[in-house]
Amino acid sequence: MVAEVDAVVNNDAEPIKDHISYLLAQEQPRPPITWNNWWTEVYWGQGVALMIIMPLCTFVAAYHTPLCTNTAIWMIAYGLISGMGMTAGYHRLWAHRSYNATRVLEYILALLAAAAAVEGPIMLWVTRHRAHHRYTDTELDPKNASRGFFWAHLGWILVKPRREPGKVDVSDLVKNDIVMWQQRYYPWLVLTMAVALPTLVAGIGWGDWKGGLVYATSLRVVMLYQADACINSLAHRLGETPFDDKHTPRDHFITALLTLGEGYHNFHHQFPVDYRNGYKWYQFDPTKWFIWLCSNVGLASHLKRFPENEICKGMLTMELKRLRKKQEELVWPQGGLPVVDWVTYQSQAEFRPLLCIAGFIHNLEGFMGDHPGGEHLLRKHIGKDATAAFFGGVYNHSNAAHNLLAMKRVGILHGGMPHITEEKYIPPSQILRVTHVKELSNQVH
Ligand SMILES: [Zn+2]
Ligand SMILES: [Zn+2]
Repeated sequence: MVAEVDAVVNNDAEPIKDHISYLLAQEQPRPPITWNNWWTEVYWGQGVALMIIMPLCTFVAAYHTPLCTNTAIWMIAYGLISGMGMTAGYHRLWAHRSYNATRVLEYILALLAAAAAVEGPIMLWVTRHRAHHRYTDTELDPKNASRGFFWAHLGWILVKPRREPGKVDVSDLVKNDIVMWQQRYYPWLVLTMAVALPTLVAGIGWGDWKGGLVYATSLRVVMLYQADACINSLAHRLGETPFDDKHTPRDHFITALLTLGEGYHNFHHQFPVDYRNGYKWYQFDPTKWFIWLCSNVGLASHLKRFPENEICKGMLTMELKRLRKKQEELVWPQGGLPVVDWVTYQSQAEFRPLLCIAGFIHNLEGFMGDHPGGEHLLRKHIGKDATAAFFGGVYNHSNAAHNLLAMKRVGILHGGMPHITEEKYIPPSQILRVTHVKELSNQVH
């Protein structure tokens, strides 16, 4: 069960392109699924029986079983509590070590997760989850969302993957006696916590034995699996990418609502050691509030938070990316203009309404009548240097005027005013620009 981290050893002269390609080249994929072999490629137990037959039987049983109010409340309450075993326990404690838990809390979470009965014991779940983070969106990711919504949601548990999941380090879990205890007694714990307890509470509590079994046990487990699966499918498809768009994880309130706060998945994949998924105080993340509550009553400590400064850098990067796209969609003043001397400028201005401002010569054809200050002011400066007049001598023009003027450039006056370093002469829309680092290095060379 212990998976070890593979060291990349490259004995060939050829350099390795990346770690994932190297690992994929080390083993052959399983043969494709065909009509002849499909029945050996299906997970009949954990896949077909638990994910298809059990939900169908549950729906049929629920159709024939009246739901009383007490059982409904109990199903929802126990569903939320056992779900917390998955999110606060399996995910944020054991998979990501985002906080420290006392032994009491670890036992409680191990039992609650067994009550959820989703995807096996801690060791199995965490191994898959760490592989999902380490190899996100590749063939080594067991829940590879790039293979489509259905594969990430259910496919990966119904059909054997064509590639073995990537290896990860789970040595910390092997040393954890509570993790090993849960693994040893997992079937018994599931039977007790997921089946016997919810049925007994409804049966002894208000005499609804059948409802306890159908709703508080079966339907609750079916819903928990669907919620858990949404983190692999929906949270990799629905929503925004405020921190990074390299991979598929996304942030969305709806997914957070369905998964006790796990829906801020873009944040989570970027900052997995943070005990929060919804890092802003108002974002819906009951798991974060539960862990915080546990720390206040002494059950949890060392709640990890990624440095705020680095979180902001992620957000800024994405905002700049969006701004860059917007910037590229706009039309900017043309470059590569001819350099003309003063005499040429003046002679040309006899035929066209040319105006020199800040060292640039502008052609005002088609604009003269539109000038808000009146055409006569422009006429007065044709063939002259109107820099002072434009920048306050006659009227201190707006940003909009400055931007529009730059679009009418047709030449540069030889020996005219400096226009590269003087902030005043650059159109306001170009003072702050999003520039790729490659463009900067091109300028240097
Ligand atoms: Zn995670
Ligand atoms: Zn994910």
